[in-house]
Amino acid sequence: MADPQGFLKHSRSDAPKRPKSERLQDWNEVYLEQDPAERNNAVRTQATRCMDCGIPFCHSGTAGCPLGNLIPEWNDLVRRGDWELASERLHATNNFPEFTGRLCPAPCEAACVLAISHDAGGAVAIKRVEETIADVSWENGYVQPAQATVSSGKRVAVVGSGPAGLAAAQQLTRAGHEVVVYERDDRLGGLLRYGIPEFKMEKKVLDRRLAQLRREGTKFVTGCEVGVDITVEQLRAEFDAVVLAVGALRGRDDKTTPGRELKGVHLAMDHLVPANRACEGDGPSEISAEGKHVIVIGGGDTGADCYGTATRQGALSVTQLDQYPMPPSVRDDERSPWPVWPHILRTYPAHEEAGERRFTVAVKRFVGDDDGHVRFIELQQVRVEKDSSGRRSVVPLSDEIEVLPADMVLLAIGFEGVEHMRLLEDLDISLSTRGTISCGSDWQTTAPGVFVCGDAHRGASLVVWAIAEGRSVANAVDKFLTGSSNLPSPVIPN
Ligand code: SF4
Repeated sequence: MADPQGFLKHSRSDAPKRPKSERLQDWNEVYLEQDPAERNNAVRTQATRCMDCGIPFCHSGTAGCPLGNLIPEWNDLVRRGDWELASERLHATNNFPEFTGRLCPAPCEAACVLAISHDAGGAVAIKRVEETIADVSWENGYVQPAQATVSSGKRVAVVGSGPAGLAAAQQLTRAGHEVVVYERDDRLGGLLRYGIPEFKMEKKVLDRRLAQLRREGTKFVTGCEVGVDITVEQLRAEFDAVVLAVGALRGRDDKTTPGRELKGVHLAMDHLVPANRACEGDGPSEISAEGKHVIVIGGGDTGADCYGTATRQGALSVTQLDQYPMPPSVRDDERSPWPVWPHILRTYPAHEEAGERRFTVAVKRFVGDDDGHVRFIELQQVRVEKDSSGRRSVVPLSDEIEVLPADMVLLAIGFEGVEHMRLLEDLDISLSTRGTISCGSDWQTTAPGVFVCGDAHRGASLVVWAIAEGRSVANAVDKFLTGSSNLPSPVIPN
């Protein structure tokens, strides 16, 4: 039985971070590596704040955890110090809690009842509890390969090794199918490898999970673009089902601002991928912020990743621009008793380290030098408006122009769906108006026996949604191959 007054006795506390000056000297995760006993005690106190609500909004409904994580259950197990059972209950709904614990912006915390009232001291630190359960699980050997006890004799190809593809592959392997994951890059992990900076999640966290998948029997082929290096005909001949988990990596470009063509103006991923490769030992990044005035356009996760990366590369200055107003925090917004997610969660550790954020501004023009390299931006105060049809427009608030130095500009303004690839043409799969791959209620695309999950289906989204869709598509593929399935299916296609 939880302590219903725990939140009155203990205030919320997030995981301690390393000093900023130290963080900026390396690429390691920003959080402090604590003595395990001290860390576990602190997290037990945080878990004690959970009231074990009768209707736990944190893990149900449209606002809580898409995986249906059994949050009050494992909060109580942590409170009691039963880390092994907590690990079992956490892994029952989440293949990769060490990823979500580090990377998810925690819709569960926004949905937590304690987030509503200022007096309650804030949501239960669910993310911290989750990450700690996952870390304790690895430290104590609770995470072991779960090999299938039967073989279905069916073969499944998973195209893409991001979180959705890995979740689908693990579930299907454990259900007894022979699963081969194809990755066109030289290393596995998709965005987890080359999109997410080390300071958010170190690659060793990914690698130890990949080792578990390998020991369970999932096979991996890297450096292989399906549709080019292996044809669709070969795929069809060799596999009984195919799962497309190819992500939504087509970066949204700025097609209208004068000067976009100048050298030094890049899409965000053109900056993040080589920076992550450099961390993997592939040599210095060809697009580095060292010694430059850097402008990051876009106030979301990807923008924050560019921000922290540019800071660590030794930028002279980093300024992040957002067309929207400064997000209110729960405590600041006295007008409303309700949580204001996702805005409250849009401040990242990178923002505490250096640089500046500017709100309600937009670039009017990129200005270059005689060599065609960007040197300045012209900035205007703006307001974002929506018309009756929901169409968004950016309206200048005055004619006043501000000039900022800019040797490097990074466009982190979102993604437009899946990249154009031969595979989709050969499978005769057309894209939705959002640039994503549509599917029926059984996750099957217009190509029979070909399924889709994750960002490729949903559009760029949270890691927790990718894992939830990967688990759900595994259920659908299992049913397709065997007529029924015991695998969980936490979400339905949108
Ligand atoms: Fe605990 Fe918050 Fe979930 Fe209630 S909503 S069960 S207090 S984590």
